[in-house]
Order: sequence, then structure tokens, then C-alpha cells
Amino acid sequence: MEYKLRCLTCNKVYESTYDSQLCDKCHGVLEVEYNFISESFINIPDSFWGYSNILPDSKSYKKYSVGLTKLLRSNLNENLFFKLEFQNPTGSFKDRGSVIELAKANDYGYKRVVCASTGNMAYSIAYYAKLYGIKATVYVSKDANKDKLYNIGKTSNATIVKVNGDFTAAQKLAEKHAFRKREFLTGDYCYRKEGQKTIIYEILAQLRNTRNIIVPIGNATLFSGMLKSLKEIKDNYPKTHLPKIIGVQSAVCKPLYEAYKKESIIRYEKPKTKADAIAVGYPTFGPQALKYMKDLDSTIVTVTETEMKNEQKRFYDNYGLIVELASVAPVAAYKKLKLQNSETVAVITGKNV
Ligand SMILES: [Zn+2]
Repeated sequence: MEYKLRCLTCNKVYESTYDSQLCDKCHGVLEVEYNFISESFINIPDSFWGYSNILPDSKSYKKYSVGLTKLLRSNLNENLFFKLEFQNPTGSFKDRGSVIELAKANDYGYKRVVCASTGNMAYSIAYYAKLYGIKATVYVSKDANKDKLYNIGKTSNATIVKVNGDFTAAQKLAEKHAFRKREFLTGDYCYRKEGQKTIIYEILAQLRNTRNIIVPIGNATLFSGMLKSLKEIKDNYPKTHLPKIIGVQSAVCKPLYEAYKKESIIRYEKPKTKADAIAVGYPTFGPQALKYMKDLDSTIVTVTETEMKNEQKRFYDNYGLIVELASVAPVAAYKKLKLQNSETVAVITGKNV
């Protein structure tokens, strides 16, 4: 789809030829804007690329196999389903966004990309960068999950830079790196969000009466991406039934939850959760998510570390599936919410433990 980019901080508008995901005026994050979106939420396409009519135009899209993950009915309640996002090639939902970001980097002629990550995104970016013949540098916390870093080394030629700090520190360094070396900045930015919003289109096609979708919140790209896609559907097709999006944070890393409850600005919080995929002290797309939440009757809840650990074990015992802690945060949240009588989908985001 044809699109423009708008800065979420200063409102400056860019044509799609602009080759960055940050505003050159104020350094704010950009958002993809379309004039119109098609009714792609009605049927599930033969492949992820059937969603090209809700994705930003690119001449570099390659038909890599991504997305179209299964919906599994739970044995907790007949109305609860799991969206198995770990079925993506690198084991997490990140691949949906990485295929878009790398295609755009290729459109603009970049031979190098850089990103910051808690682990899954670095693996995903490194994997698709290699497929595109692009060199990747990934900034990760020195405490990053060793198995995730091992996967990067095993499947790509990416350079790993370990940072003495958390994800937010790594993100600042990756942004400086991109600016200094004139490399394409990838990660939790606007093009990723467009790819990730396909999850909601798939869910609506797979389970037409979905009332609630529960997702973990790290950098809030998936959460705000889902809200953005609902807003796009609402604006274009006002009569469409829309599900409620419920975000989940760890009780020991909940900056967006606090801002939402107190109706305040988001304040950085040092992440203390063991669920590394959602260990983000300041969610990049948090302010935008808060803005959308009011309009779309969305909410945020928290779960404890013990609840996630117990749920991770139950998931293995009940389904024979090993998934990471952040992935079962929505399942732990479900048990606290009274949703038994309405169709609910918990997004199981990744399996890289
Ligand atoms: Zn700006």
C-alpha cells in the first residue's frame, strides 16, 4: 500500500522515500499512515504476503515463509485459544516485522543494519539480514539470554555488541551507531509494527467472534501495533466488531501499567523480571499505546514471576510445548480475568528459552 510517515512527537510528515524510521527534526519515532486499508481481516490468505494490501509498499519483498501461525484451542476453557507465534522461523513473532524492515533497508540501498534487542529481535534481524545479503550489528545487554545469542552465531554472520546496561541503554547505543555510521536502524520502529499487526488480521479471520486478545508488553510495539490496526479497521469499517486488547506486564517491570493506572507520563523503571523478552524499562511505543487505549477500551494487567514460571511448566505438561516466560504471561493473566464466557486469544509470542 502507498503510505506516508508521520512523526509521533512533532507531527512532521515524510514521503515513503524517506530512508529512516526516526524523525530528522526531533528524533521521534515515526508511524506509517495509509489513506485506506482493505478488508483483509475477513479471509486468511494463502501466505503472509497476501497481506500486501495492508503493508507498506516495497520492491524488495521476498516470499519468505512467515506468519500464518496456528490457533490452538486450550484445555483450560473451550473459549480460550493460543496463537502459536513461536511457529515463525526464528521461534518468535519478531519475524513478521523483520521481513518488512529488511525489505525496506534493501529498498533504500543499505548494506548494513543495526538493532537493539533483548534477544529475540536480534536473532530475527540477524537471520533475515543474512537472507537479504545485508550485514547486521546487534546491541544486546551483557545479561542477554545466552541461548538466543548462540542462535545468532549459529545462523548468521551478525556482529554482537554486548552493552553494560539494559535494553533501553542498548537502544540508545544502536540509534547512535545508525546515525554515526549511516546504517539502517531496525528494531522496534514503524515498519516492524506494520508486519506485526498481521497477527490481529489472522486472529480475526481464524476466529471471527474473538472478544479479547491478550498480549505481553515489552517495548509495546506489538501492543500498540494491534491497537493501531484496530483503529485502522474502525476508521474504514465502523460496523466491524472489534475485540478488546489486553496487555500484560511483569509485576516487577510495569512502566506502562503504572502510567495507565495513574494517568501519568511513562517513567523509566529498571527491569527486574526474568522474562527477558518483556524486560523493557521504557516502552518506545508506550505513549502511542496509551493514546489508542482510551479509544479502544483496552486495558493492562500484571502477572508475577511465580505465576509465569508455574504457567510455563503447565504449558509444557499440558501441550508438550516449551515456550519462554513472556509467552505465558497472557495465560497467567487470563486466569485472573473473568473471560471464561467469551472467545479469547492469548498470543504465545516465542519459544526461545
Ligand atoms: Zn519529529
